[in-house]
Amino acid sequence: MTPEQRARYDRQIRLPAITEVGQQKLLDANVLIIGMGGLGSPVAMYLAAAGVGHLTLSDFDVVESSNLQRQVIHTEQTVGQLKVDSAKAFIKSLSPQTNITTIDHELSDNELLEQVRRADVVVDCTDNFPSRFELNRACIKAQKPLVSGAAIRQEGQVTTFDSSDKNSPCYNCLYPDTGVESASCSMEGVVAPVVGIIGTMQAQETINVLLGRPALVGRLLLLDAQHLEWQRMKLTKNPNCPACSTTQI
Ligand SMILES: [Zn+2]
Repeated sequence: MTPEQRARYDRQIRLPAITEVGQQKLLDANVLIIGMGGLGSPVAMYLAAAGVGHLTLSDFDVVESSNLQRQVIHTEQTVGQLKVDSAKAFIKSLSPQTNITTIDHELSDNELLEQVRRADVVVDCTDNFPSRFELNRACIKAQKPLVSGAAIRQEGQVTTFDSSDKNSPCYNCLYPDTGVESASCSMEGVVAPVVGIIGTMQAQETINVLLGRPALVGRLLLLDAQHLEWQRMKLTKNPNCPACSTTQI
């Protein structure tokens, strides 16, 4: 670690739970963030600020003015740009030393699996069921932890699936893959801070996972943002899960 890095990350290094050893783990890590919208924005911003050394950002959309209400990594000046380019520019202004890989096309199954294999942690910041199930399958195949978040209206949820832990449920244990499209924020709406709260929780949990202490494996936190109440649910593995019961070692 350089003297500049020691100074920059001092407030984390001084924590007994992190120290220079933990900070070095963050600096050495590659985190794959799928989706650079409302959830992906705070995830990327906080992980870059915290000193995660390599972020791989995947999104093929361009920034639209209706995104700016909640996708805070993008600005008025980047409307019309690819979201990954807009996000990269912001991160470079915040933390020039962060390595960033951008993926601006829809990933094939094999490409996704390859990216998941290269990552230490995968963060699900997508907004639709098909992508979530595909990402879940890739993470099971590659045995990589998946920090999952979702937000809509005034509600949000966050949990972690870790297929390297044989007792961990997966996304498909929680939701059956019915092939039916989920409700979307474009139809149902979403209040701006809800994605910020959930995304920030995902960033914290990603750091927990990188430091070897995940908090949310087998536990789902549900946010009711209107009443500012959290509920905690225990998640169990479905022994007949089509995704994780057949591919488990
Ligand atoms: Zn499962």
